[in-house]
Amino acid sequence: MQSKETFHGCVVNTEMVDRNSNPLLELSDVHCCYGGTSAVYQLGFRVWEGQIVCLLGPSGCGKTTTLRAIAGFEPLCNGEIHLRGEPLSVPGFTLAPEHRRMGMVFQDYALFPHLTIHQNITFGLRGLSRKDRQRRADELLELVNLPGYGDRYPHELSGGQQQRVSLARAVAPKPQLVLLDEPFSNLDVDLRERLSRQFHDIFRDQGITAILVTHDQHEAFAMADEIGLMRDGRIVQWDSPFNLYHEPADRFAAEFIGQGSMISGTLVDDERIRTELGILRGSRSFPWSAGTEVDVLLRPDDVKMGTAPSGIYGRVVKKAFKGAETLYTLQTPSGLELLALAPSHADYAVGDDVGLTLDTEHLVAFPKTDDSAPTESQLPVRAINVG
Ligand code: ATP
Repeated sequence: MQSKETFHGCVVNTEMVDRNSNPLLELSDVHCCYGGTSAVYQLGFRVWEGQIVCLLGPSGCGKTTTLRAIAGFEPLCNGEIHLRGEPLSVPGFTLAPEHRRMGMVFQDYALFPHLTIHQNITFGLRGLSRKDRQRRADELLELVNLPGYGDRYPHELSGGQQQRVSLARAVAPKPQLVLLDEPFSNLDVDLRERLSRQFHDIFRDQGITAILVTHDQHEAFAMADEIGLMRDGRIVQWDSPFNLYHEPADRFAAEFIGQGSMISGTLVDDERIRTELGILRGSRSFPWSAGTEVDVLLRPDDVKMGTAPSGIYGRVVKKAFKGAETLYTLQTPSGLELLALAPSHADYAVGDDVGLTLDTEHLVAFPKTDDSAPTESQLPVRAINVG
């Protein structure tokens, strides 16, 4: 069974994975160290056949180390990695990378410059006749939308075309898993977005299971069914792109994923938070006592401009045109800054005073004292019905 939802303008295919079936890949309690210093701690996650998952996080958080451990280039200090239930890395045994049947796509394409595109794609294909290799290469060039490019050399292709060839080469031997390490970071923003969607469609159409590493959330959103957000060698939240955006597990996740403003509030009781923009009422009880000081996360899409039955106004102090939408920075009379997204045809000018309403179905709050990893009582609380 599959469901589709639209998120940030792209369709996210949230495949309903049968969590009772056996995962394709399983990491348990994985630790990786460099010279006695841990780079990855207690990492555990599962990937099911056909899923596209992403390890997302800031530079140095351990994404590449994790990918290299899965590929077999990095030995584990502790923990286990299994593929289809078979051990890849367990204490006392590490299966060599060439026996793991994984395809890799790197940031720098890593194509052989002295080989033609056709030869690059068929390089790792063994046991096929010349005719079958030709057929497979032609089929893959069609798949990555480069038919007729087989006789060219890598330097005769653009960066985006070379990256599509490296994908074709990675999937040519029909690997069990494709690993992609920052595959689009050498490309400009436009091409990066286009290519990440093309790769997503190819993986989906071909039923390819893939793990992508990136520090770019837009890339992660465009590609992934599930995202593991990493910080300092650990996964802080493993979730769908939608939930990561709307229900971040801690302040780090809230700030790393998407934009937004934190506004101060005080718990009136276990259901309501008083803020200068009104009383926010939760759909379930807040786990903190009355009087607790909190920060409430407002995403730009929570703030609606133009109508103000609530009597809240903001002055436009900045605007950034984003095509279909414009991102406004608004200042309330008390000096509070809010971000708001509005359809670009509304076109408010800097200096305009605009009525505001809040649409906070996915409102998230954090106690002000919470600047460490979340505990059960600090997990975000959804709120509805702004009054
Ligand atoms: P980036 O996005 O910058 O590539 P990353 O999240 O992929 O970062 P890793 O490359 O996995 O991070 O590095 C995790 C940590 O391990 C960092 O602190 C890094 O300095 C360290 N590290 C990585 N490779 C080595 C190495 N070969 N020797 C020693 N330390 C290393």
